[in-house]
Amino acid sequence: MKFTDFNLKKDLEKAVNAAGFVEPSPIQQQAIPIVIEGRDIVAQAQTGTGKTAAFGLPVLHNMKCDGTVEAVVVVPTRELAMQVSDELFRFGKFLNIKTATVYGGSSYSRQIKHVQSASIIVATPGRFLDLLKNKQISIKPSFVVLDEADEMMDMGFLEDIRSIFKFMPDERQTLMFSATMPEPIKKLAKTVLNNPEFITITKSEVTNTNIKQSFYVVEEYERDDALMRLFDYKDPSKSIVFCRMKRDVDRLATYLVSQGFSAKGLHGDMEQRQREEVIRAFKGNTLEVLVATDVAARGLDVSDVSHVFNYQLPFDSEPYVHRIGRTGRAGRSGVAVSIVTPSEFRSLKKIQKDVGAQMESKVIPTINDVRSKNQATLVDKLKNQEIDEKVCDFIEALKDDFDLSTIVYKLASFIGEAEKVKGKDKIGKSKKDIEFLLSRVREGGGGGNRNRSQRKRNGGRGGSGGGYRGNKSRSDSGANRSGNRNDRNRYSKK
Ligand code: ADP
Ligand code: MG
Repeated sequence: MKFTDFNLKKDLEKAVNAAGFVEPSPIQQQAIPIVIEGRDIVAQAQTGTGKTAAFGLPVLHNMKCDGTVEAVVVVPTRELAMQVSDELFRFGKFLNIKTATVYGGSSYSRQIKHVQSASIIVATPGRFLDLLKNKQISIKPSFVVLDEADEMMDMGFLEDIRSIFKFMPDERQTLMFSATMPEPIKKLAKTVLNNPEFITITKSEVTNTNIKQSFYVVEEYERDDALMRLFDYKDPSKSIVFCRMKRDVDRLATYLVSQGFSAKGLHGDMEQRQREEVIRAFKGNTLEVLVATDVAARGLDVSDVSHVFNYQLPFDSEPYVHRIGRTGRAGRSGVAVSIVTPSEFRSLKKIQKDVGAQMESKVIPTINDVRSKNQATLVDKLKNQEIDEKVCDFIEALKDDFDLSTIVYKLASFIGEAEKVKGKDKIGKSKKDIEFLLSRVREGGGGGNRNRSQRKRNGGRGGSGGGYRGNKSRSDSGANRSGNRNDRNRYSKK
């Protein structure tokens, strides 16, 4: 199936082409014709499956483009509002469609001004309801879309959403998109939608089997060391590290910077402007590592995230799915890596069961593992490296003192020096340990509980306490590392 099969308006088709879309995703194949027909829908599909276009294209197709506010898209977060707005603007480019965003933490007057000249409003529930209630905007949209409905529910927006619909005209088409369908969402659908068509894209239809998932078992205090070693081994081009707590995000981002990475944190306590800057930097490749909480990174669409790291596992499978969905987007392949302590085995089991995920248990690479891998990469690179004439003089100069083979060994050692791997050799549990520990949980042994009470005895330091220790054990190598990393970039970046 092709996008041309939908017979979209020419100007819309042009934009779809310009976006490089050829084949509609499963959710798009199913949703677009039904929405064009004018029916309400409830659509359930995992993240990264193209839900924005699934509602955006048919809504734009049906719009009159008469200069009034014709459509409203309600989304859970400010970041999503900007992202969805950008995507819709891209599709509406040749239709001369304007989009406006409405969200908290930004000036009322500016937003109101933009809203008045827009065809599509993308809004977070709280601020949008504010504007409606205070009669600061008066609109009669023909299309109302609830995007990421489950997330809005989790964030406590259900009441706001119900209230929003009191201000919407009865004569409207309503579309609801959600990654999951918990009971309250189904109930909401019954009250705000009119005889909707239900669309569910099951797991097997989701193209996202191209995310390789693995987990490593470590002690709490080894998390930092484990993450560093995994970075060294996997050499991710662009990655997101997920933490449970905002303070972990701050601490870890600072730590990564101290280790020579270009890293920044993203969480809800940051100012809006800061958050926008971070996301822009991450999309624009000036940032290598984004350290984020679940909420901050929810729905974030950055197309070329190579790796997602779970610094800690989320408590539930829902956020897990959303986290790993940040990689492997739009048909690319991705890698999702979880650092797990024995006290997280409950969550691990739950996630494995719920997600049906094939999460491979792995052992943290040793220094030698990293070395051999780097060596293999280097060999490959050298094989493909063309000889630069400018180096001839350099080699000739060396030849005055050494024979060619000595020069080669010296140069290789020089490169090896820069590739030195930091940290202790063995980090985390061995394969055998992991199997044993996991088997205890399977038998209903209270492994998780014991660990929890142990943590309490230690003064409840849990994550941050462990992190501190991890920091300390590396601190001697920290200063070196940043220099080292720059060197490494010089040799190993493509
Ligand atoms: P979701 O809302 O389901 O998480 P998005 O709408 O954010 O997914 O889409 C994920 C990414 O895939 C976006 O970068 C989008 O531009 C891209 N995309 C969507 N549909 C297609 C398609 N049919 N072909 C190629 N890329 C697509
Ligand atoms: Mg989405």
